[in-house]
Amino acid sequence: MRYFIVLLSLSILYCCSPSGEQNGELPFIKGVYGNPGALLEAGYSFDSLGMNAVFVRSISLNREFVDAARQQGCRVYVEFPTLLGRSYLQDHPDAWPIDERGEPSPPADWFMGICPTHPGFREYRAGQLKDILTAFEVDGIFLDYLHWHAQFETTEPILPETCFCDRCTGLFEEEKDIEIPGSSIPDKSGWILENADAKWRDWRNGVLNRWVTDMGAVVNEYQSEALLGVFYCSWYPADHDSALYRILGIDVAALSGLADVLSPMLFHKMKDLPPSWVGEYIAWLDELTGAGEKGKPLVWPIVQAHNNPGVVAPEEFRTVMVEGSRSPSTGIMMFSDQALLQDTEKIEVMKRFYFDIPE
Ligand SMILES: [Zn+2]
Repeated sequence: MRYFIVLLSLSILYCCSPSGEQNGELPFIKGVYGNPGALLEAGYSFDSLGMNAVFVRSISLNREFVDAARQQGCRVYVEFPTLLGRSYLQDHPDAWPIDERGEPSPPADWFMGICPTHPGFREYRAGQLKDILTAFEVDGIFLDYLHWHAQFETTEPILPETCFCDRCTGLFEEEKDIEIPGSSIPDKSGWILENADAKWRDWRNGVLNRWVTDMGAVVNEYQSEALLGVFYCSWYPADHDSALYRILGIDVAALSGLADVLSPMLFHKMKDLPPSWVGEYIAWLDELTGAGEKGKPLVWPIVQAHNNPGVVAPEEFRTVMVEGSRSPSTGIMMFSDQALLQDTEKIEVMKRFYFDIPE
């Protein structure tokens, strides 16, 4: 993987001022996330919208789209649904995440995760990634659904304790040199949560980080020039009783040492927060990780254009684009193409915003 450092003026604060391409390195990335091909089908072209990047879901990836995106001056970044388990679980019930009672943890609203230590699943995902990287030349792979089984994209988060399958507790014992007393899953989970909670959380974070390392190794092997990005939950560490680390298994500082690009999911309306929070989060991330500095990952947030939950008015959408583009961000995208097509005034907002950023 390569690390492009875009030298942005630290004075950059607003939409009219993000820096353009300097010294032959990456320009400010102006993207659309989702199935950007829908914009083409609706009669738009990426270059006429001021875009220079697409962030396309793996399922929407095809040759015609990639060729069109390249012809229209876009870099192609591919979203990769890392720990999304639903389809794999249909034929592999032994990969189901197990809760502290020893029961399969139910779907968390629309999301169904997976036991992240299942070796078959790891092979399955690595194989899918290799297929993408063999079929298409990409500018980057962005890991999505990078968390232990839980739901953070609903008004009321769903935060189960997992995974206490025999494989996970066995690996925990082995890797942390711990002997867990008891034989039943409730016995073991009860003991872990009462006596080895800190080590358990640390081990779970390590499992998640290994996914980043392993998928990054595949990217590096197949297309060493491609960037490795991560979409991740933008809760602050103390939010929801520290669930970011405790339940989702995410340590942002650790992620910043593993990825080329951090893409926090800054969905303000979903969190019932003001648009200004988007800029505040970017400032917090800067302070925590130094992201955007030399040798550190780039920061390309994804902001909310989508109307569910709530309604994001076009002017509000503009504000979160501005806030998300604050230094040290060197790129931005929004969720999603559909939100733009449902309210064409948002397309105009995006277009004006992107054309105001010099190439
Ligand atoms: Zn497990």
